[in-house]
Formats: sequence, structure tokens, C-alpha cells
Amino acid sequence: MSKQSASNGYAEAFDTISRFLAEPPKDMPNELLNAFNLLGGNRFLSPRLFFETVEQAPVAISITDPTARILYANSAFEKLTGYPRDEVIGKNESMLSSKSTPAEVYQDLWQSIVAGKVWGGTLVNIRQDGQEYLAKLSISPVLNEEGRIAYFLGMHDDVTEIHALERRLSFQKTLTETTLNAAPMVVVVIDSDGTVLLENHAYKTLISDLGDDPARLFVEALHSQIGLDLPRVCHSGDGFTNVEVRLDATGTLAPRWFACSGVRINNLDEAARSYFNNRKEDGCCLLLLANEITESRNRINEARLNMIRANMAEQQMVQTMREAINASLFKLQAPLNIIRAAMNMSANGGSCAGMGPVLQQALETGEEAVESLHGSLPGPRIEPAALVNVNELLHEVLRLSTDSFLSAGIVIDWQASPVLGSINARPNALRGLFKYIIDNAIHSLKESGRDYREIRLETREEQGELLISIMDNGRGIAQNERLKVFEPFYCGWSRPREHAGMGLTMAQEVAIGHRGSIEIDQHFIGGCRVFVRLPVHGMGGEVP
Ligand code: FAD
Repeated sequence: MSKQSASNGYAEAFDTISRFLAEPPKDMPNELLNAFNLLGGNRFLSPRLFFETVEQAPVAISITDPTARILYANSAFEKLTGYPRDEVIGKNESMLSSKSTPAEVYQDLWQSIVAGKVWGGTLVNIRQDGQEYLAKLSISPVLNEEGRIAYFLGMHDDVTEIHALERRLSFQKTLTETTLNAAPMVVVVIDSDGTVLLENHAYKTLISDLGDDPARLFVEALHSQIGLDLPRVCHSGDGFTNVEVRLDATGTLAPRWFACSGVRINNLDEAARSYFNNRKEDGCCLLLLANEITESRNRINEARLNMIRANMAEQQMVQTMREAINASLFKLQAPLNIIRAAMNMSANGGSCAGMGPVLQQALETGEEAVESLHGSLPGPRIEPAALVNVNELLHEVLRLSTDSFLSAGIVIDWQASPVLGSINARPNALRGLFKYIIDNAIHSLKESGRDYREIRLETREEQGELLISIMDNGRGIAQNERLKVFEPFYCGWSRPREHAGMGLTMAQEVAIGHRGSIEIDQHFIGGCRVFVRLPVHGMGGEVP
């Protein structure tokens, strides 16, 4: 029977059934009536309409008896399998099997359908022309009045292309992941909430190295460096390249440097409602590539450190001279005052009467000496302000003191804020300030005679200020001396050696010059803790 004649044959049969059902004979048995209704002959859907729908459905439909012998197949079935209908009617569905579907799949199929359950799965089928295709098949058992399986209804579609696409997608995914994981640089995709959507091995390694969330640290560092605003990443233009950021891992002395590049990408929106409305601004994320440049940065820093070292040595020399001259000037005032008193007594005819000219000469000589000492006082250096990262600066100071730490057996506990914005400040002056405090801590630890010696540095941003806390577990400063130590020429060390008692006075001057402050923690016990506060916006305006 040709396709056309088969189709016409069914149509005629259903037209007859429709007419018959419209006026069924009075003595017609109920079983027969129900059987016709099973074929779709209910009062709402005419059997013809039912038949045409199945016949023209775009999915391959077949109806079989309980042994899978084909009783009916629609035209989509003919088209998909390549078999004319009359060649399949009466044959088992197994004629479509390419013999490469595993036996367990068929066992599962039959176990389900003979138990009256719907089965769905994928089989490898073969067309009449020998071409294999993947059939996504669903089989539903059709029960008779007694509840026994009367027919099976099979519907299948060719999903070969979808499968190929899925395979290609999975291959691309594996390829992308393998490439990303092999890349030495950190690759991470972060959405506008800061959630990590994709990361590579280098990123995972960084998580354990930093003991923190690297994505958050990168975003914070990029925010302070170039004003990156993650929630507004959709509006952030095309991205950025080679922005150098510094991450400070807590507890270790080695900061890490990364050259970061970022690309804005549209977010994958899987929601059904976005099907017709996939606007760009609906969601963007940031593809961040971070190349570690710590080694090259360290080399540059080493050269810089040598320059700083030379600079600080010179600064130290000038400072020592200033301290010595100031101390001499201070000490000269006492004999000069005595001479002035003796001159008064001589003028008033006291015991020094007659010594007036000698005293006058001594006073003049003394005053000349004071003047010449004043003249030899090295003038204060005017240092231009620059952008300073306090973490970096503290690092430099610590590295300058490395030898002292090693020889005194001092452990450094670095508790810096992982990301700290830069401030406008005079770098040399600030280095000097921190060097004084750290040198004091080293000295105090040496005098304490403790076995375990530690200096802890903490930095953080707090209410518009950078708070730098430098703590040592040395001999400490008595309560009543915690303010006195800032007075000029005050020296409380047991072994003063080169100390003139001007260090903290000058550190305080520097802090005040930066509109900041320096104080000794009044409540700290078991050593000494110094707080230095510097405004986040730096000195602001004119550089003092
Ligand atoms: P078979 O001997 O036919 O069957 C293999 C295993 O299936 C047997 O070992 C047995 O465990 C189980 N089994 C077979 N028949 C029965 C049964 N009557 N009762 C209980 N268990 C049974 N197969 C395809 O490859 N492609 C198709 O597109 C496809 N469409 C189908 C559509 C319908 C509606 C139905 C009911 C079945 C369909 N089948 C299809 C399954 C098909 O009938 C065969 O079972 C299958 O192709 C395996 O054929 P075979 O000759 O290798 O082994």
C-alpha cells in the first residue's frame, strides 16, 4: 500500500466511524462503543480530527501491539526512518535497531513498559539507507478496560545534531578548562555581586596561599587603584589592562604583585523570561586575568631599597647632627644663664664686684658660640609629597632593619590590611617616623632580656584614618612616662648609647605635619604599643 493510499484508507475508516458514532445502532454492545471511543471517538474530538493530528504530527509516531509489532506509523515516521509505511506495518520495532544500543538499555525499556510505566531514553537507530541516527524515544503503554496492556505508543525524534552539539560544547568546555588550568596566570570570572563563576588552578592555588578570597582582594585593590566598581561593571567601558596591584597576605612578610587586566563580559542569563529579552545591561561580569609580577617587582624594589637606604643614612646623619647641636645649645644655656646672674650680682656690688668686664667677655664669647652653633644647624629638608602606600613603606622599613631583627632574634608578625589605599604623604619623613618606632621596639626588646621577642605590625583603615599599630613585647614604658617620652631630650633607656632623646619628638613632628598623630597605648601591658594615625586623604592641600 502506498503512503497516499494508506493515509486515505485510514481517513475513510475514521469518517465511517464518525458517522457511525453520531447515530450508533440501539443494540450496539457497550464494549464496541468504548473501543471506538478509545480511538479518539469521544464527543469533543472527532476520530478524523484525532487521526489527522497524529498523522501530521512532526514527531515520528508508531503504535504497536504488546510485542512491539508495528500496527500504525505516521508520515513523520516514514520520513525519519526512510521506510515506507507498508514496509514496516507488521514488523517489530527492532528493525530500527542499529545493534549498537547496549542490551541493558533494552532490558530497562521493556522492564518499564511491561510494568505499565512510560519509558524515555535514547537509542541508536538505523535508517533504511543504512545511516545511523540517535532516536530520543518515549514509549507509553495504552491499557484496555481490564487494565491490561493493549498497545504501545512510541514517539521518537532525531537528536543526532543536538547530541553532536552537546559533545562539541562539552569538548569546548574541557578544552577551555584545560587551557585555563594550564595557564600560569590567574583567571577568574566574577559577577557583579562578587561571586566567582569560573576559576582556574592558579586562582585556586592563590586561595590557599592568601588564606582569603582573592577575588574580593583583587576587586578592592582595583577599586582603590582605578576606581573599579563591580556592581557597575556593565558601565565600565571595555575594561582595563596591566593595572599593577599589591596583595598583602596576612602573617607573612612577602607582599605579592599582580598585573591585572579585565574584560567585561555579558552574563549568562538562563532564565526563561530572558529568551526574548537579552539586554546587555541586564547582567555583566568581569573576566579578570592576573599575572604575578612579584619577582620583577622585588628586583625593582631591591634597587629602590638601596636608594632608600642611602637616603636614610644621610637623613640619619643630618638628624644626629641636629640632635647633637640642639643638645649642645640646650646645655650651653645653663652656663650662660649663670654668667648673666653673676653679671647682675657684679653690677649690684655683690661678691662678683669687679669681675664685670671678664664676665661680659665670657658672655659674649658664649653667645658667639651659640650663634655659630645655630648657624651650623642643618636646615630642615623640604620633601615633596607623593602617593604613598603605607604597607609598602612599612615593608621597606622592616627590610632596612632585617639585620637587627636577625641579630636580636626578633620575630615579625605582619598583620597588615591585605589592601590599603595610597595616601598623599612625604615618604622619607614617614619612613623616618616608622624607623624611630621600630628601632625603639628593637632596643626595648634587647633591654627586656626576653627569650621570645616579637614585633607585631597592624595596618587598617578606620573612620577615614589609616591606623598603624606597632607592638613589641619588650620592657614597656611606665604609665607615668607614656606622655613624657615625646618631650625633647627625654631618655628613659637603661643603656642610652647614641640616643639623645629626640627620636619620638621628631616622629611626633612628622605625624602632626601629616595631620596625623602618634600615641602610646595607655592600656597596653606586656610591652609597648604605639598607634600612628594618618588621614586617608593624606596631608591634603599644601605639603608642609
Ligand atoms: P529483542 O529480542 O527484541 O529484545 C531485547 C530484550 O528486550 C530481550 O532480551 C528482553 O529482555 C526484552 N524484550 C523484548 N521483547 C520483550 C517483550 N515483548 N516483553 C518483555 N521483554 C521484552 N528498538 C530500537 O532499537 N529502536 C526503536 O526505535 C524502537 N522503538 C520501539 C517502539 C515501541 C513502541 C516499542 C514497544 C519498542 C521499541 N523498540 C525499539 C524496542 C524493540 O522492540 C526491541 O526490543 C529492540 O530493538 C531490541 O531488539 P533485539 O532484536 O536486539 O532484541
